[in-house]
Amino acid sequence: MKDDPSRRDVLTTAARVSALLGLGAVGAYMVRKTMAHDGWQIDPELCVNSHVGAAELVACQKCATTCVLQLSAVRAVNNHAGCGRCYICPAYFDVKSAVGPDGLPSEKACPRDAIRRVAIGEIDPGDMANNYYEYQIDEKLCNGCGICVMGCKEPAGLGSIRLEVRYDLCVDCNRCSIAQTCPTDAYERIPFDKSKPVVAAERA
Ligand code: SF4
Ligand code: SF4
Ligand code: SF4
Repeated sequence: MKDDPSRRDVLTTAARVSALLGLGAVGAYMVRKTMAHDGWQIDPELCVNSHVGAAELVACQKCATTCVLQLSAVRAVNNHAGCGRCYICPAYFDVKSAVGPDGLPSEKACPRDAIRRVAIGEIDPGDMANNYYEYQIDEKLCNGCGICVMGCKEPAGLGSIRLEVRYDLCVDCNRCSIAQTCPTDAYERIPFDKSKPVVAAERA
């Protein structure tokens, strides 16, 4: 028997509402899934690169070399609010390199040239050491080698740079290969809030 138009309209509308409700439930579930879930992260108190220690220690580079991804999911992140904006930043410059004609170390610390030194305000040429700089990390170049983190830590720096697992890059291996090899067991499972991207959060 053919449905009359009004009955067919009601059935069609009911089917659409039902489908939308179903989709809505799935959508809400997916939003919850993407907003927060557990993932790998680094405890900076345990990472040898950010922990205060002897000056002759070398940076642990396992975060850069043991991730399953070709370019590690780990990045250095600078908390600009806690950065001293130093004229001679020990994370940016290789402070052991020869001093150039401008009075600055001639070599950079980052082997991948991933840090930008951007002047804040107008430069005072009469008192160069009194100028301030923002040190910005290019996440496309950084591989999380930790050399800058080692340079920034106290007492030379303020410890504003640390290593973080980028949850938008990490594929969340069941057995994170970095966690397996980290010498200080600095990897932990914590809830991530994907509504607060790491890069945005670093400027908070
Ligand atoms: S492997 Fe561990 S100690 Fe080494 S850089 Fe990564 S978090 Fe730090
Ligand atoms: S972690 Fe390594 S690659 Fe990344 S900015 Fe620091 S020194 Fe450069
Ligand atoms: S869980 Fe996998 S992708 Fe993520 S940091 Fe560890 S090894 Fe790299």
